[in-house]
Amino acid sequence: MYYNMSRMSFELSPEQREFLSKVDSACREIRPHEEECYLAEKLNDRVIPTFGRIGMLGCPVSKKHGGLGLDMLTYALAMERIGREGSGMRTFFSVHTSIGQLVLQGWACEEQKKECLPSTCNGKSIMSFALTEPDAGSDPASMTATFEERGNSYVLKGKKHWIGNGTIPGVMTVYAKDRETGKVSAFIVDKNARGVRAEEMKNKVGLLSVKNAEILFEDCAVPKKNLLGQKGKGLSVAYSALIDGRLSVAAGAVGVMEDCLAETVEYSKSRLQHGSALAKKQLIQEHIARIAIDIESSRWLAYRAAAARQKLHDYVEGQKEREGWLDRLNRSNTEYAALRAEADSLAAIAKFHASNRSFECASRSVQVFGSTGYRKTARVARHFLDTRATTIYEGANEVLELKIASMVLGNEYSAY
Ligand SMILES: Cc1cc2nc3c(=O)[nH]c(=O)nc-3n(C[C@H](O)[C@H](O)[C@H](O)COP(=O)(O)OP(=O)(O)OC[C@H]3O[C@@H](n4cnc5c(N)ncnc54)[C@H](O)[C@@H]3O)c2cc1C
Repeated sequence: MYYNMSRMSFELSPEQREFLSKVDSACREIRPHEEECYLAEKLNDRVIPTFGRIGMLGCPVSKKHGGLGLDMLTYALAMERIGREGSGMRTFFSVHTSIGQLVLQGWACEEQKKECLPSTCNGKSIMSFALTEPDAGSDPASMTATFEERGNSYVLKGKKHWIGNGTIPGVMTVYAKDRETGKVSAFIVDKNARGVRAEEMKNKVGLLSVKNAEILFEDCAVPKKNLLGQKGKGLSVAYSALIDGRLSVAAGAVGVMEDCLAETVEYSKSRLQHGSALAKKQLIQEHIARIAIDIESSRWLAYRAAAARQKLHDYVEGQKEREGWLDRLNRSNTEYAALRAEADSLAAIAKFHASNRSFECASRSVQVFGSTGYRKTARVARHFLDTRATTIYEGANEVLELKIASMVLGNEYSAY
């Protein structure tokens, strides 16, 4: 087995329930504005204040650094709820928190956390993750962005694209190759720093209320203290971020399917054709049953992945109480490696399954709605357009299949 069966408990504490009910209220409040922004293709500027008020901007970030310090299952449940409002809004949080704040929480030193995290939790600074380049997507090791040491700085050069939240002020983690050694390092970079130029990417198919940017680094001098993790270990930082990113996509996809089901049930009961409600027709019932089945299978994969991620988090935080933890984790530490592999494989499986299922469910819903579902004014149409991205980003699904296979077969069978 490539992972151990772990005990899971999904009993929620009163604190978790209370938080999730606040997320639910915030989602209800923002729904009309989200639709308006989507149709106008403009950034939903109410997401930050609305969710900032309830602490969602720092949900799994430690209390010490300005967050709520909630566990990964609660965060996944919040992402599931937000996913019902659309993958665009969920993507904002995936980028800001999952592949943003959690990267700092996992890898930054105490000074870096103190400097960066509190302002990300109160919404003054919104995070981004800058890994992908025009010629380096599924294979980030082939990136061409570089850095070199100059005095007290590392100077970055190169181009990244598709960077979520890239046009919103804040900090981002950037991944670049050492010009001398070719090894990748990770850096914390202010999006307003001199030498950073972000331009919004236009003509997206979906996710229209969030923004992606192409970002140019033109001799951008980053203070040496902003090196994140160990020099030359940047890909390990990036790949660990993607575990969280995939988990968030899986949880959000469950929410998408829940919304598709709710919309489809309501519509199919009210729409009459051939003398009775669509909901009475067996072929329509097949669509509804398949969505319900996909919700359940995806939900448990997502929760299980969240439980594995929490175990990894608890282990790493425990290690941090001892000197030299970063060194120890980067050396082959069997316990850490096993927990990381478990979280990694479960997040990949959950993301692969839930993203594929949610795209198909959204398509089924559009089918039930007929022509009414072929306009962006229909929630199911927006889910259909948005879920298309979820099988591509945070690891395209073909690459995830290869990854899952090599985790089962052993790395010597790696097909990429
Ligand atoms: C909406 C959106 C938001 C994004 N946000 C971010 C972000 O915030 N930060 C960031 O850094 N990046 C972001 N990305 C980029 C995203 O991570 C990449 O698009 C993704 O990694 C795939 O890379 P690519 O698009 O270059 O496709 P490619 O790598 O060129 O792949 C094209 C196709 O080939 C397949 N493929 C690739 N290699 C193999 C192989 N070895 N075997 C079989 N099939 C293979 C892929 O699965 C895919 O189907 C975003 C992308 C989108 C669409």
